Amino acid sequence: MTDFVIAPPAVPSVAVAGSAGRFPIRRVFCVGRNYAAHAREMGNDPDREPPFFFTKPADAVIPASGTVPYPSATSDLHHEIELVVALGSGGTNIDPADAMDTVWGYGVGLDLTRRDMQAAAKDMGRPWDMAKGFDASAPCTPLIPVATLGHPENRTIWLDINGVRKQEGLLGDMIWSIPEVIAALSRLVALAPGDLIYTGTPSGVGPLNPGDVVTGGVDGVAEFTLTFGPKP
Ligand code: MN
Repeated sequence: MTDFVIAPPAVPSVAVAGSAGRFPIRRVFCVGRNYAAHAREMGNDPDREPPFFFTKPADAVIPASGTVPYPSATSDLHHEIELVVALGSGGTNIDPADAMDTVWGYGVGLDLTRRDMQAAAKDMGRPWDMAKGFDASAPCTPLIPVATLGHPENRTIWLDINGVRKQEGLLGDMIWSIPEVIAALSRLVALAPGDLIYTGTPSGVGPLNPGDVVTGGVDGVAEFTLTFGPKP
């Protein structure tokens, strides 16, 4: 046993559907602009430039259920519905042809974004960390193992606010496919068991308000409902 000088933090984890077991989270990676229509709505050229990534802390992942705290320091909190890929193995320089073998399961999550802070960071050439990686910024459903789900094909990904459809796309509309994303990430960092990848959002991102009821999902994978709490 390691003799820690303070109590070690808990291992962040996410639930597993149909199981009492939990999936431990090592790192959380997010893909930027992975659907052409979303790239365009953010004012970017959706041409197939190499994918880019940012990260969130592992303990930013919370259940996509119940009440989600509305974050401080923003007047423009945005929703981004995303397919979440959970890795059961990893490596470096993974060949796209082998990349799907690293996938343990899938979930559906929100890449919550302080859009006003992100816009200011872009303008000033500053990092996105506090715009993207704040506490509770990565709600996620229980994971569904590949062993029971298989790999989702061209499913619909969608998000409603208070019963009104805001985002809808197809997984097949990703600019960079899941194996391409895993391969590209593994050329930048060593991937490992416990890594989550938020794979990007379709178009239709927009603001969330306290009290909003958000329903989202990927057909045939998972669906969630959550409510945003009051402004802090
Ligand atoms: Mn995103």
